[in-house]
Parts: sequence; structure tokens; C-alpha cells
Amino acid sequence: MSRGRRIVDYLRISVTDRCNLRCVYCMPPEGVECIPHESVLTYEEIAFFVRVAADLGFSKVRLTGGEPLVRRGLSWLVRQLAVTPGIVDISLTTNGILLPRYAEELKAAGLNRVNISVDTFDPERYRQVTRGGSLEQALQGVEAAFAARLTPVKINTVLTYETLDELPAFVAQTRERPLHVRFIEWMPVGGCGPTSPVDSPTRDEVIARLSTMGRLQPAPSPGGWGPARYFTFAGYRGTLGFISAMSDHFCGDCNRLRLTADGKLKNCLFSDDEVEVREPLREENAQTTAKRIRESLERKTFNRFCVDHANQRGMSQIGG
Ligand code: SAM
Ligand code: SF4
Repeated sequence: MSRGRRIVDYLRISVTDRCNLRCVYCMPPEGVECIPHESVLTYEEIAFFVRVAADLGFSKVRLTGGEPLVRRGLSWLVRQLAVTPGIVDISLTTNGILLPRYAEELKAAGLNRVNISVDTFDPERYRQVTRGGSLEQALQGVEAAFAARLTPVKINTVLTYETLDELPAFVAQTRERPLHVRFIEWMPVGGCGPTSPVDSPTRDEVIARLSTMGRLQPAPSPGGWGPARYFTFAGYRGTLGFISAMSDHFCGDCNRLRLTADGKLKNCLFSDDEVEVREPLREENAQTTAKRIRESLERKTFNRFCVDHANQRGMSQIGG
């Protein structure tokens, strides 16, 4: 779909708000109140939504959460999306913990690629950041993604001043194989903001550090549709990307709409503007569903960015 010169063709779909980790920057320790089961969209409803959206010109889908792999039967949904006319790319954002179990079947169902969140290569730090998670399991997830050819494999890292000393370890990951590490600036979204603010270094600060480690050069995007900017070291097979929402606002180029697990359309991560779409999905009403999608896009401002804007939903309830 387009609004003026802008094309909005990318859907981020949260299939659940539940998660098997409790990352400090995403959730409070006690977790967040879960959406009641009856309010969560069924896979059939999500597949219907994507068919309507594809008819309107959406062509790329990312599945996210909460942790999407804690919801059973995700491959079934992927299979439905993969045969939806007009959908050319299906990707998944996951913490990787359950990926060894599901990578092959997701690939067979039609999943193209994965982003795996790994914030540190130190097992103890990982345990602290995720409040109990196992780094070993997450890294097995990365291996499973390569083995299943869910490529390009990307690692999402919310870098902090504490983990900045691990930059050489992140860089080393990109040397021998096409692994793409993306540094994400912490964003004050929802309940996580006041409880666990994370002090993220800016892109310029990280680049300054990286530049002391070798000759850093701009690199083409390894594939994907997001706002990341990429760099690499000469001869390295992977890249280092930056998603710098705080220090480099990219709202003007935003190409996405979000669907929450309880059927609300969100036209901006930082906004509470929501359009209800669950009811027409339950009624399999394509016309009203399409109308609601248009309405959400119509209200999209492309310049809303405002760090003071306290979103009612946390990141795990939106899908990042
Ligand atoms: N559970 C999956 C995962 O962790 O990859 C998918 C959902 S998670 C909400 C999606 C992405 O949002 C992750 O890469 C995570 O690091 C990022 N994220 C969560 N809270 C954030 C915050 N406050 N600021 C920046 N990124 C955040
Ligand atoms: Fe769960 Fe992902 Fe949030 Fe971590 S970032 S608590 S893995 S939803």
C-alpha cells in the first residue's frame, strides 16, 4: 500500500505476548499481564488477515512476539502464509531458545530467515539480562538456523555500556561466516521504560570503537526491509548493522504496520494509536478488515517519533 510517495508493505505480526525469558529491557521481573486466551487471534484469523493485507499490496511478513516459538504449531501458520499470493518473504524474530526443535520444520513450511536475539556472549551476563536464560541454548539456536538454511541469519543485540567491552567478540562472529550482528538502541517502550532503562551507546560511539579495530567500511544490506545501516571489515563474511531509533530517527522511511496478538493494528511502535481488527477477522469479513488496514495506514504519521511518548504496551506486547 502507499501513502503519498511512501510504500508500506511490511507486516510485523505478534503471534503471542507470552515469553520463556524476561529480558530486563523488555519486561518487568514478574512479567506482564497476559492477554486472555480467548482474545488471542487464532492462526486461521492471522492467515486470513495476511491474505487481505496481501491483496492490498503487503508482501513481507515478520512473525514475532513475546516469543513466537512458545506458541504451538507455528509452522502451520508459516505454511499458510507461504502459499498466500503476493507474500514474498517470511521471517521470524526469536530468542532462539526453542529454535533447535523447530528450525527444520519451519524451513520446510516456508520460513525464509530468522533474527535471533543475543545481547552478550558471556553466559553469566546472558543469565542476568534474560533473568535466567541459557546462552548455550540461544547459541544452539543460531547453529540450528544455519543448519536449516534460515538465511541470512541475523543476531539482534541491545548493546549497553556494560557489554561494549564485548565488541571484539561480536566482530569475531562476523569473520568466518555470513552472520549479521545488528546493534539495537534501547527504546523506552511501554512498561519497560521506567523500570529498566538501559543506557545504550549511540551508533557513532560504537562506530568510533569499531574503527579502532580495523578498517570499517559501509556494506550493503544482507537482505531485509528494515532501517538498519550496515558495515563490515575487509575480508569478513558477515556484517555489523545499526538500528538506531533514538539517535537517528528513521520514521520518515517507515514501511511497516504491526498486528498485535489480540488483533490491534498499530501504525507506530511509539504510538498508542490502535485500530481494532479482531472482530472483522472473527467474522471473516474481508471488506471491513481491508477498511481497518487502510484506516490505520491513513493515521500513520511517519514523524511521530517522541521518546517522551509512554506507550501503554510493552515491547513484548507489541512485538518489537
Ligand atoms: N522474543 C523475541 C526476541 O527476543 O527476539 C521476539 C520479540 S522481542 C520483543 C523483539 C526484539 O525487540 C528483540 O530483538 C529485543 O531485543 C528487542 N527489544 C525488546 N525490548 C526492547 C527495548 N526496550 N528497546 C530496544 N529493543 C528491544
Ligand atoms: Fe522475551 Fe524477546 Fe522480550 Fe526477551 S526481548 S523478554 S525474549 S519478548
